[in-house]
Formats: sequence, structure tokens, C-alpha cells
Amino acid sequence: MSQTIVTLNVGPNELCFHVHRDLLMYYSPYFKAAFNSSFNAEERAIPIPDVKVSTFYMFMDWLYTERLPRTKKEVDETGVLGGRELVSSYTGLEFAELYIFADMYDVPGLRRQVMDRIFAASVLPKYAVVVLAFAKLPTTTPLCRFFVDVYCQRFRESDDDESERKQREKLPHEFLLGVMLRHAKIMGRLRAKEMISSYKLHMCDYHEHETEEERQLCSNDRQPK
Ligand SMILES: [Zn+2]
Repeated sequence: MSQTIVTLNVGPNELCFHVHRDLLMYYSPYFKAAFNSSFNAEERAIPIPDVKVSTFYMFMDWLYTERLPRTKKEVDETGVLGGRELVSSYTGLEFAELYIFADMYDVPGLRRQVMDRIFAASVLPKYAVVVLAFAKLPTTTPLCRFFVDVYCQRFRESDDDESERKQREKLPHEFLLGVMLRHAKIMGRLRAKEMISSYKLHMCDYHEHETEEERQLCSNDRQPK
């Protein structure tokens, strides 16, 4: 790896981050194109205005370690507290923001790891998270599709407390339409007796696998050994 360091100005206050250029280029086609297309890109600071500094710290940590910060739940379960910064309580918001960053700056490996984390969290995302995702991402992205699918699978009316009920009016049309259409499809299959009533979601449906073979390998890796 070359030792070239580039400067990124992050967030509205343009906080300076110094990063190895080759790492950015390795993980992100966006940065690869940016550094290939302009010769002076290394000398100028690159603006990353639309990202929270806390989100960028999570990205930096991931860039150098390929690991995400652990949630409080994970620390409680394992009893191990590493040096890594801890996500205080899992609302899904921090990870949704990281996913949105990984979409804007095209970091597919990070998208996949964040998706795995959200998938494995086994909580329904709060409406604020759904609203954010549908505002910032194309509705075809795996995260948006997953939110539709998981609401179809798991939502019960009693899940909503008073404050969540108040948020319902903000739910995006595309999300509600997605739930309606998926529900109709499931009901159709149930009527045709193609599917049992508790259906499973598959992580690989949200991984952007390019070939069936790659999907099969990924899925085999997840089987308990
Ligand atoms: Zn997969």
C-alpha cells in the first residue's frame, strides 16, 4: 500500500481527517474514480459535507479494521469491552446513517456489514429510522427492501407505544406501498398453499450478490459448523 495521505473535510464544520488514499480507493469505487480522474485530488482537501462526524468516525474505524463498533447488547452478552467506541443503545439510527454514507460514497463492503448488523439485531426499526432511510436512499436499496420485509414479517399493532403512534403520519408512501404489495403477494401464496404462515427472511437477499454462485458460498459460510 502506498503511504499517500489525503485530507477529507467532514461535516458542515469541515473537520479535517487524514486518511490513506489507497484504502479509500480499495474500498470505494467512488473514491477510486475521484482520485483517478483528477490529478491534484491528493493535494486538495476533499469535502464530505453531508455526513455527521460521528458517522465518519465509524467509517474510519471500519476502514482500518473492517469492524463495526459493538452495541451495548453485544457487550452485555459477551462481557467483553474492547477499546472500540461503543454504540450506546441500539436504535438502528447510527447504523442507518452509516449505511446511507456507504451508499452515497459507494462502499459496498461496508454496506454489507452494516446490513448484516441491522439484520441480526432482531428488532423492528423505529419509524424515525424508516423515514430517514426512505428519504436518503433509493427505495430499491437492500436496506429499504429489508425494512418493508421485516415490517411485513414482524410488526404487531401492540409494538407501537404512544410516541411511535404519533410518528405514523410521517411514514413514507413508498414504504407503506411496499408493505401493502408484499402483504398481497404473501396472501396470494398462502391462498395457493405455497408458503407456511411464518416465513423466514434470508440475509443474502440484502447482500447485492452478483452471481448465484457467490450467494451460495456466502450462504454456506453462515451455516452452523
Ligand atoms: Zn450473502
